[in-house]
Amino acid sequence: MELTATKAGAAKELQRLEKAAGVEVRNCYQCGKCTAGCPVAFAMDYSPRQIMRLLQLGLYDEAVGAHSPWLCASCITCSTRCPKGVNIAGVMETLRIEAKNQGLVPEKAVGLFDDLFLQSVQQNGRVHEMGLILRFNLKSGKWFKDAAFAPKLWRDGKISPRAEKAGREAVARIFARAHSQEGE
Ligand code: SF4
Ligand code: SF4
Repeated sequence: MELTATKAGAAKELQRLEKAAGVEVRNCYQCGKCTAGCPVAFAMDYSPRQIMRLLQLGLYDEAVGAHSPWLCASCITCSTRCPKGVNIAGVMETLRIEAKNQGLVPEKAVGLFDDLFLQSVQQNGRVHEMGLILRFNLKSGKWFKDAAFAPKLWRDGKISPRAEKAGREAVARIFARAHSQEGE
């Protein structure tokens, strides 16, 4: 009885994921082309193909708790290569959102960077690299991480203490739309 309820719960979660990511996981026929092209598959606990297989088998919690979505660089190579048109990059993104909603962020540093990056974009209309690096290093406790690169980046004009602000209204509208879709 309990097993049936668990299965029904997983099926519902899977339906929600498919809707959010715009995919049907059954369309994946496990050819592995996505994994073959993924630049970070070597570091993942489950390759993109395996993530799709977990979902097909109803192992939803396993997929949500995986490290792979947090290592995904959103390069979209997998989605482009898939002969069945499965948007795996969208699946990875949706799994990240779901993991965050459940308070499961296996790659803490990636989760922190994600949050700070979005905050910076929201505040300035674009990312302020120097502010982002400093805040990330402070919050992650790695105060002097990459500090050796700072003088060269400074000299080459790649970083500046002043945040350039541009297009904040347009970006604010994008954030507002994304937040309203979250509530749907
Ligand atoms: S490329 Fe597409 S069909 Fe092939 S394993 Fe990946 S998701 Fe499945
Ligand atoms: S979008 Fe993510 S999963 Fe897909 S190929 Fe790029 S890094 Fe790999």
